[in-house]
Amino acid sequence: MNNPHELRDEILKLKAQRQALILAHYYEDAAIQDLADHVGDSLALAQWGARSQNQIVLLAGVTFMAESVKLLSPDKTVLAPDLNAGCSLVENSPYEKVLAWRLRNPQALMVTYVNSSAHVKAITDVCVTSSNAEKVLAAIPRDREILFGPDQNLGRYLMKKLNRPMQLWAGNCDVHLLFSARRLEQLRARHPEARVLAHPECDEGILRQSDVVGSTSRLLQEVRENRGVRKFIVATELGIFHQMRLARPDAELIQSPPEGSCACAECPYMKLNTLEKLRNSLRDLAPQVDVPPEVAQHARQSLDRMMRITDGESVRWPERFEDPKLPAEPPYRAERGLIPRFAPEV
Ligand code: SF4
Repeated sequence: MNNPHELRDEILKLKAQRQALILAHYYEDAAIQDLADHVGDSLALAQWGARSQNQIVLLAGVTFMAESVKLLSPDKTVLAPDLNAGCSLVENSPYEKVLAWRLRNPQALMVTYVNSSAHVKAITDVCVTSSNAEKVLAAIPRDREILFGPDQNLGRYLMKKLNRPMQLWAGNCDVHLLFSARRLEQLRARHPEARVLAHPECDEGILRQSDVVGSTSRLLQEVRENRGVRKFIVATELGIFHQMRLARPDAELIQSPPEGSCACAECPYMKLNTLEKLRNSLRDLAPQVDVPPEVAQHARQSLDRMMRITDGESVRWPERFEDPKLPAEPPYRAERGLIPRFAPEV
């Protein structure tokens, strides 16, 4: 049964039978967003999962997001429709290499973007999102050295904005790297009245030309609330256009063009999720995402520190890094490979 309407009905029936919660990331296809209980960015999805009464949570997003749901809801069954839904930032930052970086800099504090594996979060002092990174970094004493990863564009943007030096891990989101500064310049010349919105994972050449730099939620908020503007050029993944159109049917939305001949920038990992895979996952209660308890315990500390800082609490920082000697990463990471793997040396 592959008719989208029939699939949708089947998913909703299974969801009711299983009493499952469906969470979808902004970059999923519109058909998946439309049947989700909540649509949001990765931390918000994990927090919705934790707040709900449902014992089964299906996450339509990428695997590190499903891991985050599991970290905040360890007793729940967390389903991820396709375990090959990786992320270039995760692929660029394998645990063993990040651990070696930390061991070479034991006196430094490590700040990690939530777009990272549970293993990397587990050797991190504090996580950040693109929304709260400035507040979290401001809570770190000025005399502490900082290792920041895995997204170097976000790190570079924050260093400049906060005038704070950091060692950066050389990872990238391969989707946000696609946008072309040259073509954006041409587009702005054709649409001078448009407001330019960009995600901080984009290259500096894009960020320099943008009126608003922020998380996916922040960019959506700008479209929803800035009623005086009727035209937006948006440098982020195409999936968010669905919520932007729902919020502002009167506005014209133009995706910032990528370099080369392709017309739009879409995340190939997010797009691995399909209605059929969602149906199969709810029907078979598989694949499930799990995080080894020792890894989860350490990773939760870095998320917890982030949430306490964003709630205005003060936190204590370790003097030195101690290797927690974690078990090896789960094998499903090695099965991914839509985007060529590389592990930058820092
Ligand atoms: S858009 Fe980029 S950061 Fe987000 S999941 Fe895809 S590859 Fe990872």
